Amino acid sequence: TSRSHPPVTGDGLRERRAAVMGGPLSPLFYRAPLDIVGGQDVWVHDRDGRTYLDAYNNVAVIGHAHPAVAQAVSLQLRQLDTHSRYLHDGVVELAERLLATMPAELDTCLFTTSGTEANELAWRLATEWTGGTAAVIAEHAYHGSTKWTADLSSNEWPPDHRPEHVGTFAAPRGLAPEVAVGAARDRVAAATELLRSAGDRPALVLADTLFTSEGILPDDGFLQGLSIGARKAGALFLADEVQAGYGRSGQLWRFAQAGVLPDIVTLGKPMGAGHPIGAVITRREIADRLAARYEYFSTFAATPVAAAAALTVLDVLEAERIPERAAVVGEHLRSGLRALAGSDARLGEVRGVGLIAGVDLRGPVVPRNLLEALVGEGVLAGLTGPTGATLKIRPPLTWRVEHADLFLAALGRVLATG
Ligand code: PMP
Repeated sequence: TSRSHPPVTGDGLRERRAAVMGGPLSPLFYRAPLDIVGGQDVWVHDRDGRTYLDAYNNVAVIGHAHPAVAQAVSLQLRQLDTHSRYLHDGVVELAERLLATMPAELDTCLFTTSGTEANELAWRLATEWTGGTAAVIAEHAYHGSTKWTADLSSNEWPPDHRPEHVGTFAAPRGLAPEVAVGAARDRVAAATELLRSAGDRPALVLADTLFTSEGILPDDGFLQGLSIGARKAGALFLADEVQAGYGRSGQLWRFAQAGVLPDIVTLGKPMGAGHPIGAVITRREIADRLAARYEYFSTFAATPVAAAAALTVLDVLEAERIPERAAVVGEHLRSGLRALAGSDARLGEVRGVGLIAGVDLRGPVVPRNLLEALVGEGVLAGLTGPTGATLKIRPPLTWRVEHADLFLAALGRVLATG
């Protein structure tokens, strides 16, 4: 081959990336970004052969480099990969299998290539259905990277940016269970009132069903209240399951676990085990309303290869009973975290459900430093919450109890030395 660049590792690669890929526009994780070249199940390794326990990756819910995905994708690639305007049995089967896991009312599956595009398409569906042009979201939400979905990502707004068509509600932090339904309903009503007084009305009330960017706040009643509030406001309720879906919560879908029936569900991240694919699940009548005036087509939205990957993810989740296992391992993790927090004032509240956990960090601990120290211990975690002061543990769902124990031991060592 005649590649003009010699392979450069470590800092050289980082500088080349910054030079040609927009520098601060596309940041990476960790002070010394990792040059990850391989992964297997719950482990990843870098170019220098260092191995890390993955405590953060939501794309790899079934574990890294699952052989069944590699096999299915490779077979399909040898047969055909093309755009989404032909009939293809794998693509249709994927829609049918996904819908079979959903409540009967949700009978329509539209494919996209990302979570962003799924939310963007949901917006089109909702505005056509309701006639509204506004949205109501949580105060520190993240829903995507296009112009419209970035407007719905309050967590990323610069101080001088508050889109007029977007109302916000405070997430369910510190709410007693008995007041959660009413609080959510009232908060949606208040946001709707503000939009009304500005001459707008909401088409969509949407929430990440685990409130991950808010600091991980699972709250069944609050989600129920949001859907009631949406209906009262004449808006559709969208459950964004891009982070929370695919078994993360200990059940396949977090909205179902919370006892909510959304009008629209959006899916992404783990859906194709890294192969880009997302989906909008809704009712046929809502899709028909958009179809009365438009058509929807996106070249790569469920290609045969993407469908092969996504079908395999569903197979593996089922065959390996992954959601059920995630629930058990997550409980073990959170009880270990609570034990650590019980004897260390730097750790505050521990939250989560299924295999996701948030731990508030307090006092002299600098969240970034703690995260970096964990990397030094060979553990990849993240930070979340309005001020980035919540340690976020969101591993592949194939973690076993022993991996939770490895994580807890590493966190214990970091706290002991810092
Ligand atoms: N919704 C939520 C809740 C997300 O976490 C993300 C991605 N972080 C998105 C939507 C956007 O998905 P994508 O990055 O695939 O466009």
